[in-house]
Amino acid sequence: MIRLSKFPFKTLKSIPNWSDNKSTWILLQAGFIRQTMAWVYTYTTLWLRVLRKIEKIVREEMDNYGAFETLMPALSPKELWEKTGRWDSIDVFFHVPAANNKEYGLNSTHEEVVTPLMKEFIQSYKDLPTCVYQIQNKFRNEKRAKSGILRWREFLMKDAYSFHSSDEDFINYYEWMKDVYLRIFDRLGLWEDTVIALADWWTFTDKFSHEFQVKLDIWEDDIYICKSCGLGHNKEVVDEESWFICAECKSKEYDLEKASEIWNIFPLETKFTKAFGVEYLDENNKMQTPKMWCYGIWVSRAMGIVAEKYATENWIKWPENIAPAKYYIAIIWEENLGKAEEIIKKLNLDKDEIILDDRFSRKIGFGQKMADADLLWIPNKIVISKKTLENNSYELNWELIKI
Ligand SMILES: [Zn+2]
Repeated sequence: MIRLSKFPFKTLKSIPNWSDNKSTWILLQAGFIRQTMAWVYTYTTLWLRVLRKIEKIVREEMDNYGAFETLMPALSPKELWEKTGRWDSIDVFFHVPAANNKEYGLNSTHEEVVTPLMKEFIQSYKDLPTCVYQIQNKFRNEKRAKSGILRWREFLMKDAYSFHSSDEDFINYYEWMKDVYLRIFDRLGLWEDTVIALADWWTFTDKFSHEFQVKLDIWEDDIYICKSCGLGHNKEVVDEESWFICAECKSKEYDLEKASEIWNIFPLETKFTKAFGVEYLDENNKMQTPKMWCYGIWVSRAMGIVAEKYATENWIKWPENIAPAKYYIAIIWEENLGKAEEIIKKLNLDKDEIILDDRFSRKIGFGQKMADADLLWIPNKIVISKKTLENNSYELNWELIKI
């Protein structure tokens, strides 16, 4: 239970005039975030709660699918990146000088960590397919920033890596993974606005890769959506508008939409498994190199997109399952506190889901309490006052309920 009388991250009376997108200033006004430096934010308690709920959804769906969670380090030794030739070739890679003339990488991706890890455990065709994932901070040495909280130098990502004996095996896996991702977006309330798009990828391969893009006015990529079959195409794929031909159905008709990437999948083929010498014994007792794929979800970006999508002029109208809490309980007048706490106990609500407004001062009256309940967007507003107590009741979303 969060007691607002003790809570440090107070709301602001007015909107700080700071950012170009409305969700960022609402988050600042509500005390959810503070900027630490350009494009790097601290999450305070309530924003962290939203993040944990989103993580939980991602975790449940990944575990349910049969992927195994790990937590790899954020730092990795230079030698691993030299093996794949990527120490100098990723332009946003952070190089960190360390003691004893060493240098470490601050990981922007984890192939160089996961591949040597799995080398020990993949021995036979019976060990395939397998998939591991993590939810971990990633770092990018970005030179430019865009649109408030959406592009960060440090961000949370769910990255999964699967290993396969054949392309057919992967294709089955991919179809499952697509379902997993669509379920995640459905639970985040992003389903209607999600488009699957073809995209180019610069680090790994010349082949096309797939992205999930969420349509959003403020941002970022232009997506050409085929009018006939609905497939999206990143502008990197469509060189010029006049050249649009759908990769799926060859139609030339398209709609142009603004969107933000939230998910991607990259075929890594055997680039990393070869570099680290991962091999398994196939059914005919021959050594083979497994193929590898990776699948990302930008978790912190997903959160930013949800915030922007559900932002109204005054607050962010969270989908109920990821709101920072389920109940905002406002107690009116200090002398009612004891009785109110008894009622709260009786209601047997999930304590982790309660924000208790037990602030009593002349400045914080009924109006301020309800304004904060709205600004934080807590779906169930409970009021316990002298009037409700006299009726042996409480108010839930303005309706009197008997105890
Ligand atoms: Zn098409």
